Amino acid sequence: MVSQKGLLFDATLCIGCGACYEACKERNRLPTTATHFLEDRLSDQTYTVVKKRGGRFVRQLCMHCEVPTCASVCPVGALEKTAPGPVIYHEERCIGCRYCMLACPFGIPKYEWRKILPRVRKCDLCADRLAAGRPTACAEVCPTGATKFGDRQELIEEARARLRAHPQKYVPRIYGLEEVGGTSVLLLSDVPFERLGYRTDLLREPLPLLTWQVLQKIPNFVIVGSVLLGGIWWITNRRQEVQRREREERDRRRSFEESSRDLPEPPGSSSTSDLMDSP
Ligand code: SF4
Ligand code: SF4
Ligand code: SF4
Repeated sequence: MVSQKGLLFDATLCIGCGACYEACKERNRLPTTATHFLEDRLSDQTYTVVKKRGGRFVRQLCMHCEVPTCASVCPVGALEKTAPGPVIYHEERCIGCRYCMLACPFGIPKYEWRKILPRVRKCDLCADRLAAGRPTACAEVCPTGATKFGDRQELIEEARARLRAHPQKYVPRIYGLEEVGGTSVLLLSDVPFERLGYRTDLLREPLPLLTWQVLQKIPNFVIVGSVLLGGIWWITNRRQEVQRREREERDRRRSFEESSRDLPEPPGSSSTSDLMDSP
């Protein structure tokens, strides 16, 4: 069985150096989006941020929920919780309805509004690195161990051990152990989580109910519109694909004609045009 991975972020250890932010930018080849990393916000070009809140530095990134609402509302299965932990995105399936953005209780997925063929963007828990047996880029560079990568179960044990060892220091809770049914990203803090900007009003169970509430709030014309947009996108894509194939076929024929023209024609053989016209 694949062991599920995760991250443990401990706000008492974070010094706000921004190395995790920079490593994420580098790993995902994302451009600079702020003059100072502490000023940046999550966007289609920024998958994690470090904020100063409640007198502490705190990270924000996709929580990689155990039962992700973003995936359960997606009508085409473009988001998927994988066995090793990452919630990944299949851009080729996405029809751009953006239900995932509406449904995420942490406000994580962002949309490439400026692009002709926009995608949803978010942290993927460095899924390719995990598959290669490596830690996430952000955890690898963290100089203090504030962001720690490991097996989710072992991280939970470690978080419990820290709470036991320093009961006066920590808020007696592992954030992400139960919220919305549990998350692969876990948090520890010595100040209340709401002061760090984390919601403490979330249900302990997964949010299938929310899924239906969200879908009920979406008027039919939006659903019809999304399907239409999806159809238009498919037709446009298909047309481009057909044009590309036609162009390739034309080029292939032209180069065949040119190379055939240079060859001496054996006596009694078929002409080039005969060959081109044959099935
Ligand atoms: S935090 Fe939001 S985007 Fe990330 S897995 Fe959970 S529901 Fe999906
Ligand atoms: S896990 Fe990877 S994609 Fe997610 S914040 Fe860290 S470096 Fe970025
Ligand atoms: S690299 Fe570690 S210490 Fe630096 S900001 Fe990120 S979590 Fe905090």
